[in-house]
Amino acid sequence: VKEKGRADYSFYQTQMSVDLAARKTLEADMIRGLKNNEFFLVYQPQYSHIKGGITGCEALIRWRHPTRRIVPPIEFIPAAERSGFIGTLGEWGLNEACRQANEWRETLGEIPVSVNLSTVQFQRSDLLDIVRRVVKQHHVTPGALELEVTESVLMSDTERTFGIMQEMKSLGIRISIDDFGTGYSSLAYLKKFDADVLKIDRTFVSDMENNSNDRAIISAVINMAQSLDYHVIAEGVESREQYDLLMEMGCYAIQGYWFSKPLPADEFARFYTENQDK
Ligand code: C2E
Ligand code: CA
Ligand code: CA
Ligand code: CA
Repeated sequence: VKEKGRADYSFYQTQMSVDLAARKTLEADMIRGLKNNEFFLVYQPQYSHIKGGITGCEALIRWRHPTRRIVPPIEFIPAAERSGFIGTLGEWGLNEACRQANEWRETLGEIPVSVNLSTVQFQRSDLLDIVRRVVKQHHVTPGALELEVTESVLMSDTERTFGIMQEMKSLGIRISIDDFGTGYSSLAYLKKFDADVLKIDRTFVSDMENNSNDRAIISAVINMAQSLDYHVIAEGVESREQYDLLMEMGCYAIQGYWFSKPLPADEFARFYTENQDK
């Protein structure tokens, strides 16, 4: 038994070092990729029936890897978070989104862009400095930039988080609570943090036409959010049926494949022009 135990242990050790080596390689590859301009952003339009058009977009990162297909964020963001590279990558993303929004301001008009912030970025002491720098460099006007945080950010060190969010808001940045309903959400946090947008997670939307519990939850969230003065965006809307139900419930805007997939910047511009007043 002892022999077998030892064998298993060394096997585990070997696996560990393989994983560690793989992580180091991935990190080095990301550093190389960023230098090589392999990362880019795609933009998913958000549509509001109430506003009668596209109200903004969410920037989502992609990696055009030289020897692989286009790599989705799920395959490298977690590694970037573990290694700390997310700080550099996140700053790049913020800059790139603001640069793009400025370019569009000249050609299409003002389109608010929403950027995802990792919990790890939030934990670092330099986040506000980075955000201030980006706002200054790109002359970000009030309402032009939105930052998405998840509920886990609200949970940890609430005083510090509250201060950071207040400072962001004073810079004219809107704050949105991403993936709402999947974390340990508390209504008290929503009241305390006074964010601007609440994004209902896709898991509540995906089966809402069949599941009355999901509909009840969504409807309750919309009503609560409205009374707290949040804009509600439903994520992952894939069908006309879902869209109609959400509009009936008074949802402010939707984001999802039914309206549009995330698009490269040039395609977004075309889509925006075609759909502006529909
Ligand atoms: P998220 O912030 O919840 O982003 C929404 C995800 O849902 C995106 O996946 C989007 O492509 C996908 N999606 C949009 N509409 C639909 C739909 O109708 N149906 C389905 N099934 N999916 C839909 P994506 O681009 O693969 O991003 C995955 C996650 O990676 C994001 O989830 C976000 O947590 C993270 N992420 C993406 N870009 C960044 C970034 O620049 N920084 C950080 N920190 N995280 C990012
Ligand atoms: Ca998001
Ligand atoms: Ca989300
Ligand atoms: Ca508010």
